Amino acid sequence: MQSIMTMGEILVEIMAERKGQSFRAPGPLAGPYASGAPAIFIDQVARLGHPAAIIGCVGDDDFGWLNIDRLRRDGVDTSAIAVCKGAVTGSAFVTYRDSGERDFIFNITNSASAQLQPEQVNQAVLKDCAHFHVMGSSLFSFRIIDAMKKAIEIVKAQGGTVSFDPNVRKEMLRIPEMREALAYILEFTDIFLPSGHEVTQLARSADEAGAIAEIFARGVREIVVKRGADGCSYFSADERIDLDALPVDVADPTGAGDCFGATFIACRRMGKTALQSLRYANAAGALAVASKGPMEGTSGFAGLDALLAQQPQHLR
Ligand code: ADP
Repeated sequence: MQSIMTMGEILVEIMAERKGQSFRAPGPLAGPYASGAPAIFIDQVARLGHPAAIIGCVGDDDFGWLNIDRLRRDGVDTSAIAVCKGAVTGSAFVTYRDSGERDFIFNITNSASAQLQPEQVNQAVLKDCAHFHVMGSSLFSFRIIDAMKKAIEIVKAQGGTVSFDPNVRKEMLRIPEMREALAYILEFTDIFLPSGHEVTQLARSADEAGAIAEIFARGVREIVVKRGADGCSYFSADERIDLDALPVDVADPTGAGDCFGATFIACRRMGKTALQSLRYANAAGALAVASKGPMEGTSGFAGLDALLAQQPQHLR
């Protein structure tokens, strides 16, 4: 029982080559790239040399095999990815505004990822799982939510820990059952990894400090807040650490939060301190934004150490 595992959407991303380019007319494209928030997350865990596995579904098509091949090559155990006949692998098409903001056309809710069954989740599949990570983006059907709850219960019963990156689309939060599901997952969460604007989403308090106190009162042990180009913050019962972002040229923000979270959790599981883990996570997020392509910015310790070595104030 030593693996980090996650579950959810596995898809490809196809990107417009140029800023300002729209999909209303043909134009140069990049990709397909392996993608999906849980897939990016678990690839980053494996790149750090930590045992890693993902539960999911892909279609029996090039997009699905592109993902399986890539994850396997980076060291992820893909044995719990079901290859579904009769469903296609999901896709995301991305354009970039001149401001750098992204627009997405998703095909996920009708894709193989939506075929994920609670039956795929059982003690045999999770027997090596010491830590299970939940991505809010994966919770787009009640069947998937049931599967996620089942996984959390099995992992907790065998003494494992759980992390949760809420990453939920705003319109989903308006569905009462979705809020209930998120509250349920938070009850079992050891490490909570919200983006800055998400800290107050699952709390009654409208300010960050109040929300953080509430979340600790629910049993969460560590909270790591991702603040994009403003860096990140770590909170535990008796410690707060804030780090500035590392200066990098931004090529593509997709995947930064996933690489950040994966690195923080893998480092904690490898026995690194909160400060060391946060520094590595901050570097992993920076390397992710500096690379074009959702999973193309995942990195091993050599790359993270090299970036940190250029920024001595971020080392200890
Ligand atoms: P999410 O997409 O989950 O909201 P963020 O955009 O906050 O995640 O990115 C996660 C982390 O990646 C940040 O906390 C920071 O450490 C790093 N990061 C993000 N954007 C930048 C940037 N422009 N420059 C340097 N580091 C960044």
